Amino acid sequence: VNRLRRLLQPAPAAAATDAGPSSRFAKKRKAANETPAKPVESEASIGVETPVKRQKRHRRKLSKKRLEAAAAAEEARKLGSEKSDKNRRKKGAAAGALIGGGEQGLLASKFRYLNEQLYTLSSADAFEMFKADPEAFKVYHAGYSAQRQRWTEDPIDWVAKQCRLGLPAGSSVLVDFGCGDARLASRLEGHCAKVHSLDLVALNNRVTACDMARCPLGNGIAHGAVFCLSLMNANLSDFLAEASRVLRLNGLLCIVEARSRIERTQRFVNLIERFGFQCQRRREDKYLVYLLFNKSRNRKAGEPLPELRLKPCLYKKR
Ligand code: SAH
Repeated sequence: VNRLRRLLQPAPAAAATDAGPSSRFAKKRKAANETPAKPVESEASIGVETPVKRQKRHRRKLSKKRLEAAAAAEEARKLGSEKSDKNRRKKGAAAGALIGGGEQGLLASKFRYLNEQLYTLSSADAFEMFKADPEAFKVYHAGYSAQRQRWTEDPIDWVAKQCRLGLPAGSSVLVDFGCGDARLASRLEGHCAKVHSLDLVALNNRVTACDMARCPLGNGIAHGAVFCLSLMNANLSDFLAEASRVLRLNGLLCIVEARSRIERTQRFVNLIERFGFQCQRRREDKYLVYLLFNKSRNRKAGEPLPELRLKPCLYKKR
C-alpha cells in the first residue's frame, strides 16, 4: 500500500514546473488527464513547425512580398511620374504656346487700342494717359516697332538723308517731334550739334517727355523740325504751329505720313503752307507720303490756326 501511495504521489520537480503562472493550466490538464505541452525548444530541435516558426516564416514571406510590392510601386511611380512628366511637359508646351500666343494676341490688341487712342485723343489727354501708365507706352512702341519691320523702307532713312543734305553740318539744331526711341538723333549724331527728341514718354535718356503741342523750347532755336509718322492726336494744328514757332526763318520741316491718312496730298500740302511753310519736295510711295518744306514766314501773333485733320491710321487685326 505504501509503495502504491509513493507511486501515486506527484514528483516534487513536476510540482515546481506546474507551479507559477501556468499552474492553472497544469491543474486543468491534470484534471483532463492531458499531457502538458512540451517546451518549444525541444520541438524546434526535432524540426516540427511550431506556430511561432510558422508566424516567422509568414512574416518573412510577407516582408518579401511587401518589399516586392514596394519595389513595384516605386517602379510604377517612376514610370507614372515619367509619363506624367512627359504629359506635363506636353501640357506645359501647349500652355506655353497658348500663353505665348495669347500674350501676343493681347499685346497686339493693346497696341491697336493705344494706337487708336493716340489718333483720337487730344495731345493733353494722350500725355496724361501715358503719364499714368508708362508701361502702356512700352507696349505701344513694341507694337509700332513690330509694324515697322513689315515696311519695305524705313522712313527714318529718308528723313536722315534730308537732314544731312539740308542742315549745316556741326552747328545745326533739330527738333524731332514724336521721336519714339530717338532713332533719328542716333542717326544724326556728329552731323547735328543738338537734336531735341520729344515724345510723350521718355523711352531713353535722349528723349524729353512732353506734349509736343507745348514743347519746352524757345522761339526760333531750330534749323530743322521733323514729324515722322507722329502727327497723331486730335489737335494736329497745334503741332504745326509749335514747329513754326521753334523754327527759324528758312528752317527745314520734314513730314512723313501714312498715305491712307491723307485724302488728297495737294490739299494737305496747301494746308501746311498756310502755317507759314513752303513745299520744296514731295514724294509718295505705296504706303507713305514724304514732304519737305521750309519756313517762309513767321506766324503773326493771334493768327487763327488753319484746321488740319487726318484720318486715323488704324492697324487691322491679323
Ligand atoms: N518718329 C518715330 C516714332 C513714330 S511713332 C519713328 O519714326 O520711329 C509716333 C510717335 O509720336 C509716338 O512715339 C508717339 O508717342 C508720338 N506722339 C504722338 N503724339 C505726341 C504728342 N502730343 N507729343 C509728343 N509725342 C507724341
